[in-house]
Amino acid sequence: MRELVIGLMAAGAFIYWKGRDIRARMTLSGEGWDRLHPEVKARALRVLEQAARQGLHVGIFEGWRSRERQASLMKGGTSWTKDVDSSYHRWGLAVDFVFLDRLGRWTWQPEGGRSDWEKLGRIIEANGFEWGGRFRHFDGPHAQLPLYRIAELKRRYQTPEAVSWA
Ligand SMILES: [Zn+2]
Repeated sequence: MRELVIGLMAAGAFIYWKGRDIRARMTLSGEGWDRLHPEVKARALRVLEQAARQGLHVGIFEGWRSRERQASLMKGGTSWTKDVDSSYHRWGLAVDFVFLDRLGRWTWQPEGGRSDWEKLGRIIEANGFEWGGRFRHFDGPHAQLPLYRIAELKRRYQTPEAVSWA
């Protein structure tokens, strides 16, 4: 039922419910946060503050992704990058936001529906991110900071594991 509702709302949000390990990833700590570019961290926190001021209760769901995590999302048909290292998440340059309901539980179905996603999207964009809500596959939670082009990063570092932004 929940999947059906979310699927109708936004194909991009629907995907995450299919991950079996979703509950373990609901808070962002460890590598997922640590390996983000400092500029991404600062701006993501600003998005949270600004969203709260507009009455939107938002958290950060996911940041940097391991090769295995990205591969599994692609295999599940829930990430659309052309190869594992083509995701901004892999390079610590993307975060996914999530809404919080009245009880503080994470949800992909904000009370205001699509309009809440649009509001959040405008805040995301105002902070210099590219917002996944503009992608061909609607990806409302997604925000990426295009400080570098993926091709450039691949050329320079070969693999995201070779990058340390800290
Ligand atoms: Zn994302």
